[in-house]
Amino acid sequence: MLKRVYFDIDGVFTNLTSFIEKYYGVTFKDGLVDFLVSETNMEPSDIFHKMLLKELKENKIFETLPRHHYFDEMLELMKDCVHEGYKVGFLTSLGELSIVTENGHDGGEELVNQKLKWLKANFPQSLLDKVTLNVSFSCKEKANFARPDTLLIDDRSVNCDDFERAGGHAFHYGHDRHSKCILALRTLLFHD
Ligand SMILES: [Mg+2]
Repeated sequence: MLKRVYFDIDGVFTNLTSFIEKYYGVTFKDGLVDFLVSETNMEPSDIFHKMLLKELKENKIFETLPRHHYFDEMLELMKDCVHEGYKVGFLTSLGELSIVTENGHDGGEELVNQKLKWLKANFPQSLLDKVTLNVSFSCKEKANFARPDTLLIDDRSVNCDDFERAGGHAFHYGHDRHSKCILALRTLLFHD
């Protein structure tokens, strides 16, 4: 029986993808990584690290990200989870910013502060008072939060696979099939 629900932030509440696509003028479907690798000759992880670090420090990207198109419905889902008695939290990863550089985990603390500010600006305080913010160093380490009574809602299928392999439950959310996802989630969480 499910007792706890974790919501991923980027790709579920924020629209990080559209921001990056706009910034580089290409889409992920067109092969953003391939494009950047061919342009720069760097390894993909190195590219994202440098790109995100620059955006983080110069433009405070994670403080100013656009809301996802379906933000309101996901917010309602989160509120209903709290109302139904689930323990609810955000589960977000430092991702590419957790790569160890000569400066250590450069950017990690700044990233958490910016994410916190984003949450405070976009969620009612009455809800934030009832949920937790959980941070993992890498996407892979999200699986450390997996328990048999815990559901992760995440837009990366690999995160979902890792979470399930570690003994938790996971739901692969995608905004391109939002209506189906929200229906399935509501059935899973409130009607089973
Ligand atoms: Mg995500």
